[in-house]
Amino acid sequence: MTRRDPAPASSSSPAMPVQHSTPAAAAALAVPKPAPAPAIHEETVATYKITLRMLDRAAAATADSTKRVRIVSGDNDGYYDRICTLLPSATRPRSPTYADVLRSTATSPKRARADPSTAATAAAPVPRAHSPPPPRGRAKLGDPHFSIPRDLPDAQDQDLAVVWLLEQAGAVEYAARDVWLTFVASVRANYNLPAFHSFTHAVSVTHALYALMRAAGLLGEEGMHRRDAVASMMAALCHDVDHEGLSNVYHAAKDTALAAMYNGVCPMENHHAAVTSALLQSRVSPLHALDPATAKSLRTTITSIILATDMGKHDHLLASASTASPWPACRESPLVLQQVLMKCADLSNELQDPSAAAIWASALMTELNGEQAALDRAPIAADDVAIARGQVGFLNVKVVPTYRALARLVGVAAVRPFMDRLEAARERYQRTVEDADGEKMDEGH
Ligand SMILES: [Zn+2]
Repeated sequence: MTRRDPAPASSSSPAMPVQHSTPAAAAALAVPKPAPAPAIHEETVATYKITLRMLDRAAAATADSTKRVRIVSGDNDGYYDRICTLLPSATRPRSPTYADVLRSTATSPKRARADPSTAATAAAPVPRAHSPPPPRGRAKLGDPHFSIPRDLPDAQDQDLAVVWLLEQAGAVEYAARDVWLTFVASVRANYNLPAFHSFTHAVSVTHALYALMRAAGLLGEEGMHRRDAVASMMAALCHDVDHEGLSNVYHAAKDTALAAMYNGVCPMENHHAAVTSALLQSRVSPLHALDPATAKSLRTTITSIILATDMGKHDHLLASASTASPWPACRESPLVLQQVLMKCADLSNELQDPSAAAIWASALMTELNGEQAALDRAPIAADDVAIARGQVGFLNVKVVPTYRALARLVGVAAVRPFMDRLEAARERYQRTVEDADGEKMDEGH
């Protein structure tokens, strides 16, 4: 935090010297001021500080991004070849959509959208469930088992991949690619580096959302309205922005500034939504070309989706999903479907191969135990058996019911391959638990 006190700017307004020129005012100035009461002023300062911090980072990202766009526009610097090998093979022989991102940002959005390779991607078949894990480097963007930390670890590659994913939802209708690249880089700059809730998690969730939406036929001409598809992808990208690796539990226990600002109600999700909203109104926003009403409507949808990611609202969301109109009847008001899709994507780690899923499970335990330490609480057991035991419960109680809710909304067939993967993960963890329990029993006899 470089600017600690933004208040002086307003207290030195031109009207103030006139008031201070009276003897009474001068006397008052000589007396030490009492500590300010904790009132709205403090909230304002806290919000202001957060905004300043965010905009500072946005400015840094813009400078960085401008440099990077020049690099990838000049010669491809190896990025093109690296990403090209990861694109779904159906689009690789003719992938001007993505190649254009790397070569130049001056292409007409209309032309890019008409690119048949985009349609080919949307219609690509969903990979079979239980397919053998592909050798490292063989998974493609769009495969449910594609692992961002394993298959796409480079931050700049991740930026480009996100732009590609946004394009599949029709984002180029709203802004040119260089605008999207700058925005994505600014979002990245506003993510921190906790073990789990990093920008890599955001990319992973955005990628899972794309896989789910494609499987359910929600992308393309027959799918959701473009504004809803783009809003969903943007919400996934931004849903944990400025997460510091500390949950609502920590904020409530420590009564932090964020908890106070939001009266203890979902402070983290409110904060992610607030930062996102500010980014969408900043100079890096990709929504500037839209009329104000459309931009506001998109912003509202995006923040509504982000607010639904709070695990505390999980049961409420599933209850809403049990009575909501299924697709495509909900095409004109798909918010509940968008929220359920977001939740499924946020809970998608177990769709990945065991080794990739293990990266996330271990990262989450590291982050949780960081919070335990910050709260002076004993660490949670993080050995393989403890993680397996936790995952069985989490899959049973949270993950699988969320995917069932999605199946109700978009049809069982579309969600089946994903459910099969979750089921395989649950069986795997269950076996680990049973083996460990069996060993314990043997020792007891
Ligand atoms: Zn998340």
